[in-house]
Amino acid sequence: MKKIWMVIALMSLQCFGNEKLILTVGTDSLSAIKAQVSVDLEILKQGDEISLIRLDKEKMFKLSELMHHDFGRCPGFTKYFSEAEAYEDLASLQIKSSVQGLFTLDYKIDQHLLVKPLVEQIDEVSTVQIIAQLSNYPTRYHKSKTGLEAVMWLKSHWESLGQGRSDVTVELVKHRDTPQPSVILTIEGTENPEQVIVVGGHVDSIARGFFGGISKIAPGADDNASGIATMTEVIRVLMSNSYRSNKTIKFMAYAAEEIGLVGSREIAKSFKKAGTQVVGVMQLDMTNFKGSDEDIVLMTDYTNKAQNTFITSIIDTYVKVKWGTDKCGYACSDHASWTNAGFPASMPFESKVKDMNRKIHSKKDTLAVSKNHAFHAIKFAKMAIAYVVELDR
Ligand SMILES: [Zn+2]
Repeated sequence: MKKIWMVIALMSLQCFGNEKLILTVGTDSLSAIKAQVSVDLEILKQGDEISLIRLDKEKMFKLSELMHHDFGRCPGFTKYFSEAEAYEDLASLQIKSSVQGLFTLDYKIDQHLLVKPLVEQIDEVSTVQIIAQLSNYPTRYHKSKTGLEAVMWLKSHWESLGQGRSDVTVELVKHRDTPQPSVILTIEGTENPEQVIVVGGHVDSIARGFFGGISKIAPGADDNASGIATMTEVIRVLMSNSYRSNKTIKFMAYAAEEIGLVGSREIAKSFKKAGTQVVGVMQLDMTNFKGSDEDIVLMTDYTNKAQNTFITSIIDTYVKVKWGTDKCGYACSDHASWTNAGFPASMPFESKVKDMNRKIHSKKDTLAVSKNHAFHAIKFAKMAIAYVVELDR
């Protein structure tokens, strides 16, 4: 018996060795990480809000579980390729984005004639079909074969929506830290193509397996097929109305969010490096579970206050559902990558954090949890299409 355990221990050592991960986490989670994940946690730099740690790779999923269960953050950490890169990022971290200083953004709402008919065309049936399609893959885990297949399917689906439009392109973005590429659909602007509006969400999924491993079954219907379906519906309606944009609009399906915002961080950083004028970012991560009285809950931390206010007016004007606010902590989703890079980002979420879908990160995160419908997600699609068109004028 003892021999068998020795073999298992040796095998896991072989799998993971003692490879280390370089991560940033919310400083408020350090003591819980020490208590529940790694008693000998290495804290490389402790900041007021964000701290840099070194963690054994084999403990990553335990950390992800802690962040998910105790803090409602998915993943709740950002993964870095190297310590040097992490220090560089921490040094240039701009908690409060100062985009207003770069150019004035008017958050006026005055495109009713254009927006209303588009909002009315948002359709539950076509939205739920995308959730069903993506959650039918056994898993979209960033290292899995089906995780790549799902991305390739999405790319070809987005291409079919943009067919015949010379101003629309769909590209794969390869990443250094994951085999899974991100997908970006771009509508090239006509009058102000240098100004960019981003609507994004992650395409990967994750679920816990036995013995604290990664499960091969991770449908991720709510986390986050729902966000991808929501933005796909916005693309469908814009294309079917031959919408031409003044600014450049980019829809992004990010790779490998669940293992530390890997895809979105690389993309946001490259936009910053290129000096791209990103005028607004909306994150769609979990839009299809109505857990609270409020229909749409805007996260107020690691997001942009002025843009959040703009979005609440968009909801009141075009969606007419109840909205609220909450906090979800550091790196709770890809919006943190854009905020860290100094761009105005918002994260409208499906519910208050305490009421969120508890089936996520398990094989039970299926469409059945939302009664095989997308009635909640289409509220987000209406909000997102209005956001894009109003910001685009
Ligand atoms: Zn998620």
